[in-house]
Amino acid sequence: MTTKILLVEDSETQLKFLKEGLIDNGFEVETASNGSEAYKKVYSYAPDVVVSDIMMPAIDGYQLCRMIKNIDETKKIPVILLTVLENKIDNFWGKKAGAQLFLSKSIDIKELVSNINATIRRYPVSEEYKQALREQDGADNSAQTRLNSILNDLLMKSMFSNEFRNLSDFLNYERIMVEKLFSLLSSFVEYYIAGVYFASPDDFSENIIYIDTLGRNLSKNLLSDINYDFFRKIEEHKTIKNSKFEVVRMILGKELDYEFGDFTSKIIIPLIFDKKLIGGICFYTRQDIDYSSFRYFDIMISELLTIFKMKYQYTEKEFMSVLDGLTGLYNRRQFEIGLEQEYYRSKRHPSDFSLAILDIDFFKKVNDTYGHQYGDYVIKTVAELMKQSFRKTDLLYRYGGEELVMIMPETNIEGALVPVQRLRRMIEDYDFNYNGIKAKVTASIGLTMNYQHFNSASEIVKSADDALYKAKEEGRNRVILYEQ
Ligand code: GH3
Ligand code: MG
Ligand code: MG
Repeated sequence: MTTKILLVEDSETQLKFLKEGLIDNGFEVETASNGSEAYKKVYSYAPDVVVSDIMMPAIDGYQLCRMIKNIDETKKIPVILLTVLENKIDNFWGKKAGAQLFLSKSIDIKELVSNINATIRRYPVSEEYKQALREQDGADNSAQTRLNSILNDLLMKSMFSNEFRNLSDFLNYERIMVEKLFSLLSSFVEYYIAGVYFASPDDFSENIIYIDTLGRNLSKNLLSDINYDFFRKIEEHKTIKNSKFEVVRMILGKELDYEFGDFTSKIIIPLIFDKKLIGGICFYTRQDIDYSSFRYFDIMISELLTIFKMKYQYTEKEFMSVLDGLTGLYNRRQFEIGLEQEYYRSKRHPSDFSLAILDIDFFKKVNDTYGHQYGDYVIKTVAELMKQSFRKTDLLYRYGGEELVMIMPETNIEGALVPVQRLRRMIEDYDFNYNGIKAKVTASIGLTMNYQHFNSASEIVKSADDALYKAKEEGRNRVILYEQ
């Protein structure tokens, strides 16, 4: 059977010259003088190979190639692009468009023929495939329509990628990253509730599921059902023990009395990289999800995977380090270790130690008003003030975002109150000034000590947390002592 070539070239003289040359070499040749005509003939003529010029008005060679390669029914047909110059960019775009081969237009006919033969041998198109193509003829294969849809698709994909990759600016601000992630997800997926979870690279840290209710206020029961459901599914991939959830976008108001059973659809997606679970994401909806209406789901998942991977690797790096990068204080992990040591030491050699947790007041507002760089500056400065108010033997840590902790060995709660109050006052009095922008900031502190009735180090932390919570409730900018 003779090989059928669809030859596409806008210059008449070139077209004539190439056509004759190919026919002389035993090929059957059909021609088209622009991309749009060529696209129609891909169907009606069903060639074994398309040989096309790149530079053509309206729909050019790349676009034609992309259209052919973009759909299953035509993508097996090999495309050879002819370029005027051996140009790197041409080469790049051509490969991206899926072309099988690039040839210089100045190539002689003999060489062109041998390249065409090699291409056809390498990418043979079956008779059935060509037959199916001809049968498709007459369907909607208007080149402009196809091209528009491809362009939309590409635009959408690159917009998607950009939006998700912007999240990488916030690798070290988990909370901000989560907020931005939710606002992104909610603009693409019609969900009722969404959840996000980043796996911790060790078994040490507590796992947090972040939940977005889109501002709806849901009952505690419903939230814990979701927490349980999400984790259970994810657990199939990794055993996750202690979990808690944090609601990211919920406003206070009347609770809606939906129950778990009211959700008709849910999607739970574990994100796995290198055989490790690195995170997960879930959506709960109250109407059936029509996957076909959401063409970009796959792209979204692959972008999510990239960003979760970066986050995982960032956290892994953090874990390997001892000091927190922003403040130079010991990091969270060191705190867990340090506290445990202090706890057992005080058991063996009975002695007091105190523990304080500080949380900056209305810090979200600082970020929102002045930007997160200003927020970073505030955290850093508070850490500096902290270093100034405590003894060398006291242990200072960055516990979380804008939360700092202090362990004061050999110090009872009354003794600890002095430096803790001093720190609180120093923060209140400090004139924060970054790039000429001034602000006043306060902090709340919960203070506790290793009372006899605590049975573990984590109970001590919890008591400081409770005291801190009270300090917030009672109006902030104060130190509250844990009461037995
Ligand atoms: P409250 O007085 O109740 O503590 O109010 P708040 O606004 O401080 O509330 P919350 O503790 O919930 O918010 C802390 C925010 O701090 C959340 C997050 O957006 C932000 N954050 C966390 N880590 C960082 C960080 O490293 N840098 C900056 N700039 N912001 C952070
Ligand atoms: Mg906080
Ligand atoms: Mg705070």
